[in-house]
Amino acid sequence: MKVKINLQKNSAKMSLKSVKYSLNVVKSENSEIFSDLAKAKLKRLKMKFNDLESKFLSVDGDNAGHHVFLKYSTSNTFKIQTYVRKGLKNLLSENPETINLFCEDDDPLWNRELLYTALLNSQDLPSRKSKIEKKQLKVINFFGNLSAKEVVEIEAIVSGNTLSRQLTMTPPNDLTPTHYRQEIKKLASKRKWKFKEYNMSQLKRMGAGAFVAVGQGSDPQDAAIVHLTYQPKTFKKTITLVGKGICFDTGGHNLKPSKYMFSMHEDMNGSATALGILEAASLNKLPVKIDCWLAIAQNHIGPKAYKQNDVVKALNGKTIEIIHTDAEGRMVLADTLTLATKTKSDAVIDFATLTGCMAVAMGDRYSGIFSNKPELACLAVGSGQKSGERVCSFPFDEDYEEDIESDIADIKQCTLEGGPDHIHAARFLSQFLTDPKQPWLHVDLSSSNTKGGLGAAMSDVNGFGVRFGFSLIQDILQK
Ligand SMILES: [Zn+2]
Repeated sequence: MKVKINLQKNSAKMSLKSVKYSLNVVKSENSEIFSDLAKAKLKRLKMKFNDLESKFLSVDGDNAGHHVFLKYSTSNTFKIQTYVRKGLKNLLSENPETINLFCEDDDPLWNRELLYTALLNSQDLPSRKSKIEKKQLKVINFFGNLSAKEVVEIEAIVSGNTLSRQLTMTPPNDLTPTHYRQEIKKLASKRKWKFKEYNMSQLKRMGAGAFVAVGQGSDPQDAAIVHLTYQPKTFKKTITLVGKGICFDTGGHNLKPSKYMFSMHEDMNGSATALGILEAASLNKLPVKIDCWLAIAQNHIGPKAYKQNDVVKALNGKTIEIIHTDAEGRMVLADTLTLATKTKSDAVIDFATLTGCMAVAMGDRYSGIFSNKPELACLAVGSGQKSGERVCSFPFDEDYEEDIESDIADIKQCTLEGGPDHIHAARFLSQFLTDPKQPWLHVDLSSSNTKGGLGAAMSDVNGFGVRFGFSLIQDILQK
């Protein structure tokens, strides 16, 4: 549902006496907005005003309303988002129709994150409960320092993030590759993106054996590579996005145990992230051409499913020895990357919930990145810090490939010996770039689902990567 945002330039107009629900970022105890009731509660809790730098204060009373206070301090994006999210959760627990946000300081970071976090958590997410509890929030009155242009950008990113969360949370019986492709087609015509699909019979004919190895295990064989293009009238640069879209991952014949198969409908999150970035970029009319490639399939068991020791030939002619059927993500991405990089662009960025190894390395608060260009990796780390969606750069040295040398094929898909599978996966993927020297960034999404939320997002599925990718594209445009 669309939430209306009213920008109130004159912040002095804000008064707790006139509003029911408010979240206030205040600079000092003497702020006019910091009411006597707030002061009294602070005293009752034996807290100092400075304690509010990390812990919000909620007060019931003025105008029979509910008011939350945060203390302003210089901080970074992630910390501000987290702090605002916690205070906001308290405010939104009563499911208000209108909330008032007040930021006493002009700090652009606080103002932006305050509105972004509020808007992000006002969106409806998929639910199959027979009695659906819809969010009631219709209006956000914003008392602070934001321009209409900044609001448009915030709305665009929120829309992209919400799209990613909605798709990722949709149950797998409702988001099969067939359904997913239909949804994307509808979205493409709504947003005026160019739409092209490569279905299984076309991919077989083309010789995309790595992708087909995974797609052939499903009945119906409805896997496909989808290609979308956003092209504004004028653009400065071109970006290629690639996303892993495994609508359900059983692990294949190397079947996952139930604990690890649970939530594997979220294995299409990389493609949802790429779509979310495309949505945000086109809503905000970024002056960039974006080609977006989505590898959509399921990883099933069955008589036609691929198996260990199979050797398949990828679209670029390289042969791959299958080691483990649960390493399907790199298989579908291999051929998708080859197709996606046939035309040059300023950067290729792929998103995938690719390895359990990255989750072990990072936990679920950061995602890991790899790049064949150290300067692109550095830029991405900066974009992550700025956007509050943090990434850490991992080694990408050639000698790691010694671990995936095969006796029978050009390369092994992975190893069975454990070791740094997240690095092996990145080295493996790099083999399928049409030009190995083109700037490429691989994002292994270990932070797509965080219990209790992460940064700005309150939902476990947090839409991580959309704002990061959007910021990175902005940073690439500015270079
Ligand atoms: Zn898998």
